[in-house]
Amino acid sequence: MTALNPSQPVLVTGGTGYLASWIIKKLLQQGTPVHATVRDLDTKNKYAHLLELADQSTGSLKLFEADLLKEGSFTEAMKDCVLVFHTASPFFISKIKDPQKQLVEPAEMGTANVLRTALQTETVKRVVLTSSVAAVYGDAADAETVPGRTFTEKNWNTSSGLAHQPYSYSKTRAEKKAWEMVQMQDQWDLVVLNPAFIMGPSLNKSKESTSTATVIRLANGETRFGAPDFWYGVVDVRDVAEAHLKAAYLPAASGRYILCSEHASFPDLGKFLREKFGNSYPFPKSKLPKFLFWALGPVFGIPRKMISKNVGYRYQLSNTKSIKELGLDYLPAKTSIQEHFEQIIRDGLL
Ligand code: NAP
Repeated sequence: MTALNPSQPVLVTGGTGYLASWIIKKLLQQGTPVHATVRDLDTKNKYAHLLELADQSTGSLKLFEADLLKEGSFTEAMKDCVLVFHTASPFFISKIKDPQKQLVEPAEMGTANVLRTALQTETVKRVVLTSSVAAVYGDAADAETVPGRTFTEKNWNTSSGLAHQPYSYSKTRAEKKAWEMVQMQDQWDLVVLNPAFIMGPSLNKSKESTSTATVIRLANGETRFGAPDFWYGVVDVRDVAEAHLKAAYLPAASGRYILCSEHASFPDLGKFLREKFGNSYPFPKSKLPKFLFWALGPVFGIPRKMISKNVGYRYQLSNTKSIKELGLDYLPAKTSIQEHFEQIIRDGLL
C-alpha cells in the first residue's frame, strides 16, 4: 500500500468513546477531515468535547448517527473516506445479563456491518480495527500454556465463551470476523491493534467508561480494605491513539499489534496513586485475600470462575512488535494512572 494522505477524509466509529476521542483529537491536530459516528445525535453532552476539539484544530469534524446493529447505518459516514478506524464496541465486564445480545452481537455483527460497508465504499484503502488483548488470551491462568508466560500476537483467546469472560469472547469473535472478511477482497487491508488495559486522562467526562470506572474504584472506598490481586497490562490512552495513527499511515504496518507499556497489580496501581495523592482518598493499602474476594465477588457482579482463573496469576504481554514496527515510545503506567486520576478529580467525577 502507498502512504495515505492525511488530508483525505477518514471515519472513526464510536466517536464519543474514551479511546476514540483521543484518536479524533490527534487526527484533527494533523489537519485530517474526520467523519465520526455517534449512536444518538440528540445526546450532545456525550460529544460536545469533540466539537470543542474541532474548533481548536486545523482538521474538520462531521458527525453522523450510526448503530452497530443497524445494517447500512455507516454508509453515509464512510462516503469518500480512505481509512476506517473501527473502535465502537460495548466494553463492560460485570453485571452482564444477556452476553449474546449485550456484547457478542454488537461486537461481531457490528464489525461485519462496518466491514460490509467498507466492501461497498470504493475509496476505502485501509481498516484499522481496535481489538484487545482480550482476543489474545482469556484468563491470566492461560499464561501457563505459553512459553515464558508471555503472550504474543501469535496467541488467540481460546478459553472465553458466553458463560465465562463474555467481553473477551465478544472481542475474539469480532476480530476473527474482521480477518475472515478482509480475505473477501483486495481493495483495503486490515491492521489490528490489541491494547492492554487503557488508562490515562479522558477527554470526555463520562464515568461509564470501564477504564475511568476502574480508576474510580481505587479511590471511592470500595477497595479501602484491600484490592484483589488482578494483574494488568497497562497502556496509556494517548499511546493507543498514536498507535492507531501509525497503523493507519505507515504503509508497512500489518497484522496484529499488542499495545502494552508495563504490568502492575491492582494494589500496585493503588500505590502509584498514594505516592502522588497521599492519604486524601481511601486508596487500597493491601491485597485482598483471594478466598475473601472469591466469597464476596458475586455480590459485586464478579463471577467466581473469573476470580479463580485470574487473581494471583502473573503473565507478560509482548510489546516488541509494536515498538519495532510502529516506533512506539510508551508512557510509564504510573504516569497514566496518576494523570487519569487528576482528570477524574478535575472533572468532578469522584
Ligand atoms: P467506551 O468509552 O465505552 O466507548 C465505546 C464506544 O462504542 C462508545 O462510543 C459507544 O457509543 C460505542 N458503542 C457501543 N455499542 C454501540 C452500538 N451498538 N452502536 C454504536 N456504537 C456503540 O470504551 P473504550 O474504552 O473507549 O473502548 C473503545 C474500544 O477499545 C473498544 O473496541 C474496546 O473493546 C477497546 N479496548 C478498550 C480497552 C480499555 O481498557 N478501555 C482495552 C482494550 C481494547 P455510546 O457512547 O453511544 O455508548
